[in-house]
Amino acid sequence: MESNPFDGSGTEIPAVRLPPTDGPFRHRAARFRQLARSRFSLAGYLNLMADLAEIQASLGEQAAAALPPGMSGLPENPAWRATLRSIADRLKPGEAGLASLLDRIRRATDEELAAWGGCVLAGDFDRTDAGITPFVAAALQVHMTSLASRLAREDIGPAQTGSVCPVCGSLPVAALLQTGGAVHGLRYLVCSLCGSEWHRPRIQCIHCGSSKKVAYFAIEGLGGAVKAEGCGDCMTYVKIMDRDKDAAVDPFADDIASLALDLLMAEEGYRRLGFNPLLVPGG
Ligand SMILES: [Zn+2]
Ligand SMILES: [Zn+2]
Repeated sequence: MESNPFDGSGTEIPAVRLPPTDGPFRHRAARFRQLARSRFSLAGYLNLMADLAEIQASLGEQAAAALPPGMSGLPENPAWRATLRSIADRLKPGEAGLASLLDRIRRATDEELAAWGGCVLAGDFDRTDAGITPFVAAALQVHMTSLASRLAREDIGPAQTGSVCPVCGSLPVAALLQTGGAVHGLRYLVCSLCGSEWHRPRIQCIHCGSSKKVAYFAIEGLGGAVKAEGCGDCMTYVKIMDRDKDAAVDPFADDIASLALDLLMAEEGYRRLGFNPLLVPGG
């Protein structure tokens, strides 16, 4: 991993931590694979996501050179469409349902692909097929993570908004409690699309800022590193993953592997803040 001036290796607390230039995808693939071995009911999907993250890692190496330095207009960019088509070509269609989804991506026109990309960027999951969204999001992640990892401090706006990524404006997938150096024990929200992280104080609702009715929820058998932080004032929740308890946690992989926690929070009447585009509600 190349050193990054915002990674917290200095003494100052960084407001924003950019993704590493070699990307998060190889680590994520390994984590998906590892979780698939212990979460039997989810193993098929976790292994598919491991395959997807491996493809993201190999495409990420080519992504940087292909795009202008900016995220605007990404769905209209031919390089992005080529990435999405490569994903559809390289994934092994294990079962008939997946084969037809991948086929639909391969046969889609440029305009259709651009429209799907625009919907995922806008967080609008009602107008796209929930089965296709993870692959569209994966292609966006390849380019957005690559672009974010190459930004300089002056390219990033102030991280003034609590719940939205200061780099690309997307919602978070989850929060990480970091380990090591100046960031040890600090909470960072992780962007669902570009992989940037931004600092938020702990035990304070990310949505409404209240700390009065913050409560923690966990599911036995998930290992203790993944919890949900719910706010009783606005009834939203975000998952928190503790790297001190398990250094290998990955916000996308551990989120899908802890689906039972989302079901619990829904039963308790909480609404999730942010989303994981690799597993869309109803998908
Ligand atoms: Zn972002
Ligand atoms: Zn709240």
